[in-house]
Amino acid sequence: MITKNLTDAVTQLKQGQLVAVPTETVYGLAANALDAKAVAKIFALKERPVDHPLIVHVLNIEQAKSLVTSFPDKAEKLAKAFWPGPLTLVLPKNDRVPELTTGGMQSVALRVPNHPAPLAIIEECGFPLAAPSANPFGRISPTTALHVEQSFGAGAPLVFDGGPCQVGVESTIISFLDETPCILRLGGLAVEEIEKVIGPVAQVGKSAQSIAPGMLPQHYAPRTRLIILEEKDPLPNGKLGLLTLNRSTNKEAFQAYEILSPEGNLEEAASGFYSALRRLDEASLDSIIAYRFPDQGLGKALNDRLERASHLN
Ligand code: AMP
Ligand code: MG
Repeated sequence: MITKNLTDAVTQLKQGQLVAVPTETVYGLAANALDAKAVAKIFALKERPVDHPLIVHVLNIEQAKSLVTSFPDKAEKLAKAFWPGPLTLVLPKNDRVPELTTGGMQSVALRVPNHPAPLAIIEECGFPLAAPSANPFGRISPTTALHVEQSFGAGAPLVFDGGPCQVGVESTIISFLDETPCILRLGGLAVEEIEKVIGPVAQVGKSAQSIAPGMLPQHYAPRTRLIILEEKDPLPNGKLGLLTLNRSTNKEAFQAYEILSPEGNLEEAASGFYSALRRLDEASLDSIIAYRFPDQGLGKALNDRLERASHLN
């Protein structure tokens, strides 16, 4: 059921049930992050492997501090600069956070969402919310309440409708477990913005640091095959769909096309990315053809999602 009644959402969460909630990134499948029994329901409904840690959504820096054993200066600088917002900090957890929430790890991923609904819900509940994207494991993330209902069908939880997500891709995740802060996942906050505040950061895959748990080559994937082409590559045969920032040449070759931002604005492109991917996935195509985004700002996160979506089959 889709609701706009905050009290219903809070009541369910207080009873240890799941509620899908909007955030500025994507819709999250939320449960009381401090109640392992409630968190177990997230893994069950998503069919998510239990060693994939969840992001814990908090009201503010104070609540974040109540869940960790340390909060380094640089982490605090980022929190002050970008919370509420699409930035997740990985910090050493304390005993209040169940290991199920953190995929068995001694660290916890924290962020303050920039959306009035989850903030009001967290405040009313009095506990933080564990909330991974509200979609079956590995599939396209939901950016509207309807997406959530559609992707879970009869098993769908209560969904709080807070309108379409403004940012549209998941948060950027940065770990403070090692000496040098390390980006674990590209996302809705550009790495350039982070480096302006705390200086150079490492990036998973670009250093010897361990890969983020739960970051799989195949993820965020449509059912239709997605092929990333270079500008000059020939098109394959079959019914094709086009997913592009603003490439408008040769549109006739495609049965369906999604031009994410005619002006080439990467924020606009990110906010419509998953919806566009869903529409193409539902258009009975043989393949979705995608062209890379400029490798800067949010373009890096969008290219990362394209790569993972193209790993299907
Ligand atoms: P999401 O599916 O958007 O909730 O994002 C969860 C992702 O956050 C996981 O798949 C990990 O990549 C990352 N993550 C969450 N908690 C931790 C943690 N304690 N340490 C490292 N990465 C984490
Ligand atoms: Mg997800």
